[in-house]
Amino acid sequence: MTLLDGKKVSKEIRDNLKEEIKSKHLKIKLAIIWVGNNEASSIYVNNKIKKCENAGIATELYHLDDTVEEEEVLRLIKKLNNDESVTGILVQSPLPKTIDEKKCFDLIAENKDVDGFSSISMGNLCLGNPHNVACTPKGIIRLLEAYNIDLEGLNVCLINRSNIVGKPLFHLLIAKNATVVMCHSKTENLAKITKEADVIISAVGKPHFITEDMVKKGAIVVDVGISRVDGKVIGDVDFDNVSKKASFITPVPGGVGPMTIAMVLDNLVNLAKEKKNG
Ligand code: NAP
Repeated sequence: MTLLDGKKVSKEIRDNLKEEIKSKHLKIKLAIIWVGNNEASSIYVNNKIKKCENAGIATELYHLDDTVEEEEVLRLIKKLNNDESVTGILVQSPLPKTIDEKKCFDLIAENKDVDGFSSISMGNLCLGNPHNVACTPKGIIRLLEAYNIDLEGLNVCLINRSNIVGKPLFHLLIAKNATVVMCHSKTENLAKITKEADVIISAVGKPHFITEDMVKKGAIVVDVGISRVDGKVIGDVDFDNVSKKASFITPVPGGVGPMTIAMVLDNLVNLAKEKKNG
C-alpha cells in the first residue's frame, strides 16, 4: 500500500509556486469574505491566509457578522471586482441561510473566481474548457497525477454529487477517460458498486462510512470526508482496515485537505499570470 501523501505533495506545489511568484515578480492579493463564526470555516480561512502569506501572496480578510444583509455582501463583492489590486475573491462557504450563496458566487468576476464555483466557471468545466477549477476536485486530480496514477479506463465510484466536490470532479475524471459512477444518498446497493470500483472517492462526511468489505483488493481509495469526533478530524474511510486492501490511499488529515489549499494558491497564480499577460 502506498500513502497518497497530500501534505508532502502540496508542500512541493506551494514551494514551486512561491518560486514562480518571486521569479516572475507577480503581485497577488486574495480577498476572503467570511460571514459568521463557523468553527470549521475559521480553520479553513486561517489556513488559507497562512499558506498564502508563506508563498508571498497578500491577503485581505473581510470577516462579517452573521446578521449582515445579503445586499452588503453583494456590494462588497462588486467593490472587490473593481479593485485593481485584488487578484482573486473567495467567499467562504457555508454562508448563513439569509444569504444566497449562488448569487454571491455568480457575482464574482470570472477573472477573480479563485474557487471556481460560479455558474460560468462550472459551465466552462462542464463543456471541457476548464479555467477556474474548484480546488478540492483539482487537488484530488493533482494528487493522483503526482503518483503517476493513470485514470484512463478505470472504473471510478464517486460518492458525492455536490456542486463543490462531486459535480466538478465528475468532469475532471471523465476528461481523464475514467468511467465514473456518481453515487449519492439515494443510490441503491452502494457496496456492490464500490466493490467493483478500481477507484473509490468518498466525500460523504460520515466517519468509517467506507469499510473493508466494500473495497476490492488493490483499489485506489481517496477520502475527502471530514468529520470531527471528540476534537479529532477523521475521514469517511476506516483507514486501518481499508489500507490493508488498497493499493493507494489518502490519510485524513494530510490527504485531500492540504491539496485543496495548494490549489487555491495555484488558481491565484494562474489568475495573476493571465492578468499580467493581458
Ligand atoms: P454535502 O453537500 O453534504 O455532500 C455529501 C454527499 O454525500 C451528498 O452527495 C450526499 O448525497 C452523499 N451522501 C450522504 N449520505 C450518503 C449515503 N448514505 N450514501 C451515499 N451517499 C451519501 O457535502 P460536501 O460539501 O460535498 O462535502 C462532503 C464531505 O467532504 C464533507 O465531509 C466535507 O467536510 C468534506 N470536504 C472536504 C474537503 C477537503 O478539502 N478535504 C473539501 C470539501 C468538502 P445527496 O446528494 O443525495 O444528499
